[in-house]
Amino acid sequence: LVLVVMADKTEMRRLEEVRRDFVANISHELKTPIGAVTLLAEALQQAADDPDTVRHFAERLSDEAARLSTLTREIIDLSRLQAEEGLEPFELLDINDVVAAAVDHNQVTAKAKGLEIVFGGDANATVKGDSNRLVMAISNLITNAITYSVPPGRIGIGITRSAQFVEIAVSDNGIGMTPEETERVFERFYRTDQARSRSTGGTGLGLSIVKHIVNHHGGDIKVWSRPNRGSTFTLRFPYAPAVGESIKEKEKVA
Ligand code: ADP
Repeated sequence: LVLVVMADKTEMRRLEEVRRDFVANISHELKTPIGAVTLLAEALQQAADDPDTVRHFAERLSDEAARLSTLTREIIDLSRLQAEEGLEPFELLDINDVVAAAVDHNQVTAKAKGLEIVFGGDANATVKGDSNRLVMAISNLITNAITYSVPPGRIGIGITRSAQFVEIAVSDNGIGMTPEETERVFERFYRTDQARSRSTGGTGLGLSIVKHIVNHHGGDIKVWSRPNRGSTFTLRFPYAPAVGESIKEKEKVA
C-alpha cells in the first residue's frame, strides 16, 4: 500500500517571495536618504566656520530627515496593513464626513500650491468601515492629486451612490501618466520617471497603502490617466444602508 501526500506550496512560496522582495526594497530605499544624512552631517562639520554654508546644509539635512520620517511611517503603515494589525471594528460611516476630513487634511497644502479642491457630496452614501483608515486612503489620493498637479489646477472629488455601491472619484488635471505607468502604480515603491526626478520625491508606497485599505473594506480601485491631461482614481465600496433608510427604500419599492 502506497500513501501519496501532496501539498501545494505555490501560494506559500509566492508569499515568501513577496516578503523577501519587500525587505530588499526597503533596504534599498532606506540606503539613499541614510547615505545623504551621513554625507550632509560630514559636510556640516567641515563648513562649521561658514554660516551661509552651514545654513544651506542644515536645510538639506532637515529635508532628508523629513523624507526618512515619511518613508519609515509609510513602511510601518503598510506592514501593519499587510499583517492586518491594529484594525478597528467596522462602523456605519457617512462617506461625506470621511471625504470632508480627508479634504481638510490637504486644504492648506493645496492652497499653498495655488490649487483648488472642489467637493460634491451625495446624500445617504453610507458604508461600513474603519473611519481612520478610509480617511487615510482618500487623503493619500488627494495628496497625490496635489503633488502631480501644476497650478492653477483643480482637484475634483465626487461621491455617487447606486443601489449596491458608493463611489468616490478623485480627479486632477495634472501631469497624468502613460498607460504603461498607470498599470504599475499600485506596486510597492513604484514611481514614474517624472515623479522620481521631482525634488519632493514621494516614497512610492502611498497607492499600495490605499489598495490595501480598499481591499480590506471589500472594495476596489481603478485609475484613468493620460499624460498632460490628468488622472482620476475611483474607489468603490459596498453600499451599507442605515437601518431607517433600508426600511424607507423597501416601502418605496412596495
Ligand atoms: P508617491 O509617494 O511616489 O506619490 P504613490 O504610491 O502614491 O507614491 O504613487 C506612485 C506613483 O504613481 C507616483 O510616484 C506617481 O508617479 C504616480 N501617480 C500617483 N498619483 C498620480 C496622479 N494623481 N497623477 C500623476 N501621477 C500619479
